[in-house]
Amino acid sequence: MGYGDRNNDRPRSGGFGGGNYGEPREMHDITCADCGQKSQVPFKPDGNKPVYCKDCFRKRAPPRRF
Ligand SMILES: [Zn+2]
Repeated sequence: MGYGDRNNDRPRSGGFGGGNYGEPREMHDITCADCGQKSQVPFKPDGNKPVYCKDCFRKRAPPRRF
């Protein structure tokens, strides 16, 4: 009695890591070189180049012109 209840608490979601959207990306903490906010980027900052948060990255992206 009460013994079997525990099993129901655990979601059984297969043996995979869960979340199957594309390849797993490791996020790296960065401090934005522009606004100074902490953010995360899906690539490893290489230390030589300034790293920007998503907003600033978009702001700084060169406009497309043809
Ligand atoms: Zn920023």
